[in-house]
Amino acid sequence: MVKIITKILIANRGEIAVRVIRSAHDMGINTVSIYSDVDAQSPHVLLAREAVGIGGSTSAESYLDIDKIIKACKISGADAIHPGYGFLSENAGFAARCESEGIIFIGPSAQSIQIMGDKLSAKKKVKEFGVPLVPGIDFAISDLQKAIKIAEKITYPVMIKASAGGGGKGMRIVEDSSHFDEEMKRAMSEAKNSFGSDLVFIEKFIEAPKHIEVQIVGDHHGNYAALFERDCSIQRRNQKVIEEAPCALLTAEKREEIQDLAIKVARSCDYSGAGTVEFIADDQFNFYFLEMNTRLQVEHPVTEEITGIDLVKEQINIAMGEKLSINNESLTILGHSIEVRIYAEDPANHFLPDAGTLTTYKVPKGPGVRVDDGFEQGMTIPIQYDPMIAKLITHGSDREEARRRMIRAIDEYKISGIETTLGFCKFTLQHPEFVSGNYTTSFVKKHFSPEQLKEHLNKEEQIAASIAVLTFLKGQSEKQEIKPKSDHHKSSAWRNRLRK
Ligand code: ADP
Ligand code: ADP
Ligand code: MG
Repeated sequence: MVKIITKILIANRGEIAVRVIRSAHDMGINTVSIYSDVDAQSPHVLLAREAVGIGGSTSAESYLDIDKIIKACKISGADAIHPGYGFLSENAGFAARCESEGIIFIGPSAQSIQIMGDKLSAKKKVKEFGVPLVPGIDFAISDLQKAIKIAEKITYPVMIKASAGGGGKGMRIVEDSSHFDEEMKRAMSEAKNSFGSDLVFIEKFIEAPKHIEVQIVGDHHGNYAALFERDCSIQRRNQKVIEEAPCALLTAEKREEIQDLAIKVARSCDYSGAGTVEFIADDQFNFYFLEMNTRLQVEHPVTEEITGIDLVKEQINIAMGEKLSINNESLTILGHSIEVRIYAEDPANHFLPDAGTLTTYKVPKGPGVRVDDGFEQGMTIPIQYDPMIAKLITHGSDREEARRRMIRAIDEYKISGIETTLGFCKFTLQHPEFVSGNYTTSFVKKHFSPEQLKEHLNKEEQIAASIAVLTFLKGQSEKQEIKPKSDHHKSSAWRNRLRK
């Protein structure tokens, strides 16, 4: 049965709220934004057809407050809610509440979220379907002695992970048995504090893998399609900063294998909507299931760029009960796409969040460049929420074109008033290991230090300065032909400065 959606409330903020509003308007659907006190002047509020203030400034008082959001939905008469990512997007209780209130939740069923939202129940489920897991246990453990025995059996290094973890938080690497006790205790208390559950499990820590994930979509009629893979191996703190599609090194056979595995995972929980199945791959491209994210992913634009498909539109159509309009046979890879995440963070200081005001904010333009953002010049990045400012995405006919275009776009991007990850992203894009495509999640640890970044940026500045001087000198010599005397002295002053 096809249900009609005429008005969507977006239960989110920032760039993802803007992103959803745009697709809804493209489809002729009305939109309602909600906003906390600190977000009253944000682009997502100004862009939506209607906006409802829900007060508060922390996440808990605003974008995580289910009662307030349902009330805003009723007041505005929206018939559907899009949760974006983060906040309530992977909250099974919220999806169930929407259903019981007669509101369409643009996402999978509460049951699918429940299974996949928890890493342990996800592992148990996909194991039944023959999907390979990272070696480890698929049950929670709290007994220290038992845990040590398990870690020894798995063999060190191991990772202690929070079952409810997300956003790269709630995982600890343990190199050997000497620190196991304290790491385990710390992991459990961190999990409890961040996610409200102290359930942890143990996995083999795979050294230097690639993070490869598959974008899938599924409708309410049992049809699935895999929209190729993304390589998200450039990470800091186990969280992605640069992503690309497709993976530069994947063969057609391996692509088919990982896509089949991803669809198996989706089937295992009767998935509907857009979702991402994450794997880590060793150097032989053996894939191990990590988790499934039951929502739109931060890096979804690279998939949109190489498929020509609007994933938000697909989500909305699926939520209305329509059948998928695509299948694996109808899809082809169109060129290559790269995304860099621009965080308000200081790469020279352990990527710590940097608060402040965007005194200059000028976005790049031109062929093959897309900016998904939720801020404008003069705005302050609120400390209450995620420090991501924007996502910069480029598309090219091949990987090299997308990469060069990204470097050009980063050069055009002007941000001041706040430290950002832009310089780090340029450093990475120009690194021979990234250029080769043969990079892993250990890239930052292996190649990046604040000193290297400084050196790289200095070199860049020197090159830019010499180009400026050469251009100047060229201009002078051309002028000299007309006015040799007056300009001669100026150009030698520049030359002298160069010699110093
Ligand atoms: P993605 O998984 O889409 O690649 P991230 O891991 O950066 O991207 O997560 C997307 C957003 O959702 C971030 O704002 C992150 O902080 C948040 N997030 C993801 N999972 C959780 C979770 N379990 N608890 C809290 N926040 C989460
Ligand atoms: P989150 O829910 O925070 O996204 P994931 O399980 O998806 O957690 O892991 C995030 C990242 O942490 C992965 O992309 C990978 O880089 C690293 N990671 C997770 N598990 C392992 C593992 N067993 N071995 C090596 N790296 C891992
Ligand atoms: Mg993950």
